[in-house]
Amino acid sequence: MRKTVCLLFAAFCFAAGALAAVAGVSVESFIRQRLSPQPKELEIFEGMYVLDGDSAVHISVSSPLSDSQKLAVADIFRRYWRLSPALEFSEDAANANLGPEGSETEISSGGIKIRARDFSALRQALKTLRQFAEAERDGPGQVFALAKIRDFASLEFRGIHLCVFPETTLEELEKYVRLAEYYKFNYVVIEPWGVFPFESHPEFAYADRKIDRKGFKKIIDYCRGAGIVPIPQLSVLGHGSQSRHLSGKHAVLAAHPELANIYEPLGWCYCMSSERAGKILKDLVSELHEFYGNPPYFHIGCDEAYDMATCYKCRAQNPASLFVGHLDKFRKFLRSRGARPIIWHDMLLDREDPRWAGEVASGTRDTAKALGALGKDIVIADWQYGGAENGGGFNTPKHFKEAGFDVLVCPWESDSGISALAKTAKDEKLFGFLQTTWHHIYGNKRYASFFRRAGDAAWNGGRPPAGGKFADSALTLIPELSHVAGDMKASYSAAGTSLSQISKSISD
Ligand SMILES: [Zn+2]
Repeated sequence: MRKTVCLLFAAFCFAAGALAAVAGVSVESFIRQRLSPQPKELEIFEGMYVLDGDSAVHISVSSPLSDSQKLAVADIFRRYWRLSPALEFSEDAANANLGPEGSETEISSGGIKIRARDFSALRQALKTLRQFAEAERDGPGQVFALAKIRDFASLEFRGIHLCVFPETTLEELEKYVRLAEYYKFNYVVIEPWGVFPFESHPEFAYADRKIDRKGFKKIIDYCRGAGIVPIPQLSVLGHGSQSRHLSGKHAVLAAHPELANIYEPLGWCYCMSSERAGKILKDLVSELHEFYGNPPYFHIGCDEAYDMATCYKCRAQNPASLFVGHLDKFRKFLRSRGARPIIWHDMLLDREDPRWAGEVASGTRDTAKALGALGKDIVIADWQYGGAENGGGFNTPKHFKEAGFDVLVCPWESDSGISALAKTAKDEKLFGFLQTTWHHIYGNKRYASFFRRAGDAAWNGGRPPAGGKFADSALTLIPELSHVAGDMKASYSAAGTSLSQISKSISD
């Protein structure tokens, strides 16, 4: 009798403790802090459900899944939880109304039921459950708090821009892509910096730093399988050195001075008057576009074109006309290949214009005039790196939208800027969101901004993320990066946020 009372008391304490608090925060708050992106609606109820090998999971979608999609779902359960529950699939046409990538999940004492719009929505719902689950103490199952989760994507274009520097290993690139997938991005712009092994013009990469073609292709193919569209990038104006300008390195001219006539005299911009430059660039664009599987977008850069039109031939012409002609050439070329060009915005804003004070603008009165003459099928990627607290009102996306363009907002490492730009995209009904990372992706806490925070901001249109004791702590990244590292069987260097635990990269 005494033993029974003790057991009942212990069970009561366990239940009460589990519902009331975990290390000083409520259970609901703790669960919310473990989820990124946050679901649109989350209700937590008293009690728990244990998913194990004997469980059945009910899944309905708006139209039948293919056999390979069903196998992929079973594989997700094995990969996430080492479990093979019975999966019961059904169709419900009403699920088509759940919103973009939308789903409703009910976890009750009777089991887990997922209503998803389609296969893509189902995968997104399962990603949330992966973060939601707790490993069963001393058992093989997964414990879920009883809950109802309703979710859908606020922005339909959620991209992240990744550079492949000579210093980037393919294993790290794979990790970035998998992290993008993990946090529900659905586009990834991958920009090789002097490392792509071009067959048409092998001289357009550092001879000793070309990436392995097969390994790179595998990553591109992985994107497609994961529901992410890989977008190639090659700048066709500035950044022609394919190197950071402060480094003084040049992927082409250092080894091939015979190609100087396709660049402006300072070697940063390609020459817009050179027919040879135009022909080579089209070859490079074609090759990259094909390598990435001919996706519907191609990013042609065109930012920070500091020395554009400075050669003797260009400077005799109208810079705005040259600029428009150059962009239009590549726009038409890409349209003929079935793709829309994406360009960075900054040359299209006059840096002296007081309307853009405090915002990124690299152009002149002449180059800004080009905006009115550009084809409206160009997507403008508006990169604004300030924080919302710095008076960065982000007026520029609206400016481009009103000029008739599809606009991607592109934050960098300011958390407030990430949220504010995503909110701007949602409020202004813009084309989407493209997180930039640049060289700051190497190690340190910015992973929380680039992947976790940005993924949430893009999915939820900048809605404030969950706050709390663990929300801004590096601890939340541990299970998430462990999931990704485990999925890809990452080496020590590629696991986590840094190449090593003890390095300068952690503090800068
Ligand atoms: Zn020139």
